[in-house]
Amino acid sequence: MEKNIWKKVLPFMATLLMLLTISPLTGLASMDRESADDRFMTYEELVENLNQIEAESSGKVEVDVIGHSRQDREVYAARVGTGDDVLLINGNIHGNEKSGPEALLQMLRMLGTSDNSLAQEVREGVTIVAIPRLNVDGAEITQRQNIFPWDDVMATYPNLEGSEPAWYYSERNGGFDINRDFNPDLSYEPVLEDLPGTGADPGFFLTNESRMLRDLYLDLKAEFGQVEAFVDLHHMGTPVLNETGEDVTIAIDYPPLGPEDSSKYDEWPALDQDESRRYALAAALGVKEFSDSEEPGVARYLHPEERDLPGQARSSFALNGTATVLFEMPGQQPEYGYDQALIDRVENGLWGIATRMADNAIDHLNGDDFLKLPKYWTSNVSDVETLVERFAEEGEFENDDAVRSLTTHLAAISHYAEKEEADKVVKHTESLKSLLDRQKEEELISEKAYDRLTDDADYLIEKWQES
Ligand SMILES: [Zn+2]
Repeated sequence: MEKNIWKKVLPFMATLLMLLTISPLTGLASMDRESADDRFMTYEELVENLNQIEAESSGKVEVDVIGHSRQDREVYAARVGTGDDVLLINGNIHGNEKSGPEALLQMLRMLGTSDNSLAQEVREGVTIVAIPRLNVDGAEITQRQNIFPWDDVMATYPNLEGSEPAWYYSERNGGFDINRDFNPDLSYEPVLEDLPGTGADPGFFLTNESRMLRDLYLDLKAEFGQVEAFVDLHHMGTPVLNETGEDVTIAIDYPPLGPEDSSKYDEWPALDQDESRRYALAAALGVKEFSDSEEPGVARYLHPEERDLPGQARSSFALNGTATVLFEMPGQQPEYGYDQALIDRVENGLWGIATRMADNAIDHLNGDDFLKLPKYWTSNVSDVETLVERFAEEGEFENDDAVRSLTTHLAAISHYAEKEEADKVVKHTESLKSLLDRQKEEELISEKAYDRLTDDADYLIEKWQES
C-alpha cells in the first residue's frame, strides 16, 4: 500500500520541487505564488523576530515602537551601532513589496549577533536605524496603499473639508501611496488650498506612516545633527537590460528631482545629488562584492532627466541634505514569491553602503561612475540604437535591410539631437515610427521589438517637443 502511494506521490513531488526552484524572473513563477507567499513574514512573525534579535543581541540591537498605523498596529524600528553617521533604512512602504523586511532582518540579526570584523566595523562606524515594515496595514492585505478612507481623512483634518482627495489617494483601495505623502518642509501641516496637488508637488503628511518616519528622521537629526543617509526598499516590474537583454536583478537610484539645471530647488541648498549617486554606487558595488556570482543584472532604476517627485520620502529627505538611495527589486507581491537570492542581493547592497560609511570610503567614490551602470529604459537616441542592435542580434528582424534602414534613420536623429535641432529630431523620429509601422505590416519586425521601439520613439518625440 505505502509503496503505491509513493509511486504516485514522488513524480508529483519532483514536479513541485522543480516549480519551486524556478526563479521568479521566469514566467512560471506565478504558479507557485501561494506557497511562496507563505515564506514572507506575517506581521506577528516580524514582531517576534525583531524581539528575538533584540534579546539575543546582548544590548547591541534596540527595538522600539515608533507609532501606530490607522488599524492600530505597532510600527517598529530597530537601532544598532554607535557610530557618528546615521544610516536610516525603510522597508515595505508599499504593502505589496515584501523583500525589504526580510533583508533588513537578516542584516539586523548579523549585526546583533556576529563578532566578525565586518559586523564590528559597521557597529563602531555607523548607527543604523531600520524600519523593516512601515506600511503594516497594506502589507497585511498585500496592497500598495495603506488603509485610510477619505472620510476618515476628513474626520482627522476638518480643515480640509470640501477638498478633492489628494492625487495619490486610491479610491479603489481606500488608502494612500505613502511614498508620495512627504514634504521637504518637515514641519508642513496640510492646508485646504494645497490639495489635491500633482506629482510635481510635495505631499501633505496626511498618513500616520509618513508622519512617524518624518518624526523619526527629525529625532535623529536632533541627536546627530544630520541624517547622513536614507535607503528605501521597493519592488518594481521585471525589465531587461537595454544592451544585453538580461533580467534586471536589482535597480538602484538617486532622487528624482527634475532636471538638475532647473531652478525649482534653489531654495534647498543642502540638496547634493552627487552625494546620493556616491551612496547609490556604494550599494551597487556591495551587491557585486558580497555575492558569489557576477551579478550582471545590477542596474540603474528608471531615471529620465525630467522625472520629478518631491513627495517621495527619499526626495524630501534629500532636499534636507541627506544622501538617499532607492532599491527596486523585480516582481511585486502577490504575483512574485519569496526569492532568497533577491533578498540576499538587497542585504548585500546595504552592506555596500554601511561598510563604506564605516571607513569613510564612500566620500572618495566618484558619483559619475554610478551613471555608468546599465539601463533598461530609453532616455536618448543612443539607447534606441543600443536596442536595435540587441534586437538584431536576437533575430527580431526578418533581414539585414530592415535593420539597416532603422540604423540609418537613427543616425540622422542622433545628428540633429547633437545639434539640438528639436524640430528636426521630432520630424525624423515621426518618420522612424512610420518606418516601424511599415516593417510591422510587412512582417519584417517582431511584435516585441515593434512595441518597445514605438514606445521609445513616442518618448523621444514628447521629450524633444517639450525642449
Ligand atoms: Zn514601491
